Amino acid sequence: MPRLLIPVESTPGETRVAATPDTVKKFLSFGCDVSVERGAGTTSGYLDQAYADQGAQLIDPGDAAGWSQADIFLCVQPPSAASLARLRQGALVVGLLSPYANEELTASLKRGALSAMALELLPRISRAQSADALSSQANIAGYKSVLLASAALDRYFPMLMTAAGTVQPAKVVILGAGVAGLQAVATARRLGAVVYVSDIRPAVKEQVESLGARFIEPPKLEDKPAESGGYAKQASDAFLAAQRQQLSDQLAEADVAICTAQVPGRRAPRLISEDMLDRMRPGAVVVDLAVAQGGNCADTVPGQTVDRNGVKLIGGNDLPCTVPNHASALYARNLVALLEPTLKDGDLKLDLEDELIAGCLVAQDGNILRGDVLTPGAS
Ligand code: NAD
Repeated sequence: MPRLLIPVESTPGETRVAATPDTVKKFLSFGCDVSVERGAGTTSGYLDQAYADQGAQLIDPGDAAGWSQADIFLCVQPPSAASLARLRQGALVVGLLSPYANEELTASLKRGALSAMALELLPRISRAQSADALSSQANIAGYKSVLLASAALDRYFPMLMTAAGTVQPAKVVILGAGVAGLQAVATARRLGAVVYVSDIRPAVKEQVESLGARFIEPPKLEDKPAESGGYAKQASDAFLAAQRQQLSDQLAEADVAICTAQVPGRRAPRLISEDMLDRMRPGAVVVDLAVAQGGNCADTVPGQTVDRNGVKLIGGNDLPCTVPNHASALYARNLVALLEPTLKDGDLKLDLEDELIAGCLVAQDGNILRGDVLTPGAS
């Protein structure tokens, strides 16, 4: 009978938890035992007693026996090397493990003979949607980015007709129309803004327009950036220069810019330069969701709001953590969807023929299976 362990997340600022009382109940129904560290759900609004009521065993944080007996360790953020060293050989770690070129993780997995599934590497196919943690969390980030921008902005979002005259709607420019960007479009539209969207994948034009926003056609150049598996590939410097030139006039008239453009495993494309910020009006707001990947916008700082000549630059790297109850509920359900097929007859079986498992299983019993990701160059 596999034993799951749900820890208190140790990364500073992390408020989410990898299982809720509801998902604990699910895992118990699959024939698992579940241990939950006391306080694991407190910052996301789930009480210890609620876990216990569903049948979880509560243990003290860091309880040595609890850790060494765990078969499956469910986390949100990657645990430290010292934490991973407390797990038994062959234990499976599942979470958002920041796998790209992560040498520390690679070394810990090898040293501890651990298995690990990195949710970032789940293929973006229809069958994987219910397990897609990147999407569930990006959706929240996109929603919250617009709320933060509207709270920081010195204007209304909607057009209003008042006795004192008509107020024009805010102009919002959204860079990147993936999961976060499309949710940002929908949220800004619900608040009544006029929304413009830039993305380099032509396929998103229809989605953007169906949400009532206007699509900014990407620059027409010979070296168009390619797309693979639904993701954008890295654009050339020449393409990005042409794109910045095109966006500069749009941003000069914008009240808000929401930056969500990313290329998996790469530094985020720099779409707003110092010069472009110089042209934005004081009072305008930029929220940069790509700030932890190098930022789409110059001068943004993770987790901080920078006042740059009156333009507020918000580093929105941790927005799912500001909506921890729903972020945890959705994340925890993603984990159930991913693991349910592997938990058959009271046993854990990882089927490498299954493309979902093969995609995200970065290591098995210390053998590195996705060396192409963990350590670029190695296969
Ligand atoms: P992401 O976070 O990697 O990137 C966000 C957006 O930035 C993408 O739309 C990308 O095209 C865009 N971008 C990259 N470079 C840019 C640039 N220079 N200028 C402007 N935009 C730029 O993407 P994501 O949100 O994870 O989604 C990627 C794709 O996967 C989307 O098409 C999404 O619909 C699809 N998807 C599929 C599934 C599924 O079928 N299971 C689930 C989720 C997402």
